[in-house]
Amino acid sequence: MCTIQRILEVRMGIHYLFLDMNAFFASVEQQLRPELRGKPVAVVPMLAETTCCIAASYEAKRYGIKTGTQVQDARLLCPKLEVVEARPKEYIRIHHQILRAVDTVLPVEAVLSIDEMVCKLMGREKEPAHARKLGEQVKEAIYRHVGDQLRCSVGLGPNRFLAKVAAEMHKPDGLTLLQLSDLPHRLYSLHLRDLPGIGPNMEQRLFKHGVTSVEQLYRLSVQQLARVWGSQIHGFSWWHRLRGADLPEAPTRRRSLSHSHVLPPVFRSEAGARAVLTRLVHRAAARLRHEGYWAGSVALFVRFLEGAEKRSWEAHSRIQPSQDTLSLLRVSLQLWQQKPEGSPFKVGIVLGHLIPELELSWPLFESDQKLVRLARAMDQANGKYGPQALYFAGMHRTEQSAVTRIAFSRIPDLDLPDI
Ligand SMILES: [Mg+2]
Repeated sequence: MCTIQRILEVRMGIHYLFLDMNAFFASVEQQLRPELRGKPVAVVPMLAETTCCIAASYEAKRYGIKTGTQVQDARLLCPKLEVVEARPKEYIRIHHQILRAVDTVLPVEAVLSIDEMVCKLMGREKEPAHARKLGEQVKEAIYRHVGDQLRCSVGLGPNRFLAKVAAEMHKPDGLTLLQLSDLPHRLYSLHLRDLPGIGPNMEQRLFKHGVTSVEQLYRLSVQQLARVWGSQIHGFSWWHRLRGADLPEAPTRRRSLSHSHVLPPVFRSEAGARAVLTRLVHRAAARLRHEGYWAGSVALFVRFLEGAEKRSWEAHSRIQPSQDTLSLLRVSLQLWQQKPEGSPFKVGIVLGHLIPELELSWPLFESDQKLVRLARAMDQANGKYGPQALYFAGMHRTEQSAVTRIAFSRIPDLDLPDI
């Protein structure tokens, strides 16, 4: 290949590799339990006929079962369905193994959810042939280091957006490359909802503006896109992203952090609920420090169970920015005193007005610094000696109550104590 052609290929080339695990939770179960391999499997958050599937193996998808299908309906669609209870800790453990496996080929630039990550390509890696080879190597590394039941779809594209679109184009086990020369015609067969960032509401808005296909979306000018999205910036970035421009991602900033818990019957008393709340504060504070934020407000909410009627109460308080467990606990317990009488059914805490650590104006008062140091020492001890090594007396004996929860958008770090 001549040099000029190579330079052009690098400049116009493939900048991102996007990786999406296929039917992730179900595949992990099939990996860990060989008796489930090749069978229709649905993963559920709890074993109850009224709950919904949170993942379906490809064998189950063939029967029309998908995320969100109710278990009783899923059994009607497929009587031989294997219904298994989710094991969040195993999925997190395997997620970290996948990260390590991918890292043997390419550094992971960003983890977008428990089953999605993105790598940035550099230099010659951007040449299409080279990029495709890396995609194959990443898949191979996952099969070899993590397990052969773990299939993924890899998308390669000139920006993150198009790399994700490419990954969505072939499932399962796809490897799709989208080059600038493929645009826009290769996307014309997609539905608007196939594009990341277009959900049901946005789709409706596009319909109202007369846009019902990807081809029509491509015909809109920056100004027209800005009108649909109601924002000049969004109009600009959509126009350019659709055409392959590698625009900087808008930094996502967390505004609040919350933890809540439905109380098991034995904790539905004043003392029980207070102990669980203490535990939630402890947990939320550890998460706050782990993610590098300070909280400027604390809100509590309690839902009461009284016959058929559900009553709820909430209270909040602005505070001097805090990050340590003890300060947040003090405020929470002060708010708790305002709570009306009743039989609590669910308790929760929201840490709000978050300030990223880097934006915080220092110095803090000496007394505050001591509390932060104490809290960080507790995090370290809990990380090292186990989740129950150090805790506040108020949460004693609540360890069975608050279990690890999992969200697609957030991956609990296993190094963080499961408190
Ligand atoms: Mg996936």
